[in-house]
Amino acid sequence: MKTQIEIMRGDITQMAVDAIVNAANTTLLGGGGVDGAIHRAAGPELVAECAGLGGCETGDARITGGYRLAARHVIHTVGPVWRGGAKGEPDLLRSAYRRCFEVAAENGLASIAFPAISCGVYGYPMRDAALIALSAARETTGHNPELERVIFVLYNDEAAQTYRDAAAALKMELG
Ligand code: ADP
Repeated sequence: MKTQIEIMRGDITQMAVDAIVNAANTTLLGGGGVDGAIHRAAGPELVAECAGLGGCETGDARITGGYRLAARHVIHTVGPVWRGGAKGEPDLLRSAYRRCFEVAAENGLASIAFPAISCGVYGYPMRDAALIALSAARETTGHNPELERVIFVLYNDEAAQTYRDAAAALKMELG
């Protein structure tokens, strides 16, 4: 079955999916932005499990339980800090998305929701990040038969519109 790719405005902490993705930092011990919101909603058991993982490199991903979240799991990934674009940022962001999809496949997940990784405090330009996020999602369709839905959950209308424009530029069909 073909994976359906969706774009919506919303709060990722409320998503009832197999996994929500956390835009974490390399310590995995919590932070601000979406990371803080996910930890608050999941409860203290999440940081306790994260503490046992020993951190995560930029461009990599780790899976944990979802605890008090509606999501069964959290996939923690670390996107790059934007330093002008010539310091490997696009490759690192692509790697973060790919690793999330690999972890989803390894765990047989059917649905995964992503925030705009690196587009908050880390300063990645939203349009460039959206093109990478969407093309990474398109790449996995056809390679992971168990994955039914990929949902990009954007925190405001402007970000959601930027993603929709990027999908149109990539001639992607949205679900
Ligand atoms: P990073 O450090 O990777 O830049 P941030 O958490 O600062 O991560 O921001 C990533 C994106 O997540 C931003 O676009 C921000 O607006 C968005 N965001 C923050 N809270 C939520 C939430 N509850 N649901 C979805 N997106 C969120």
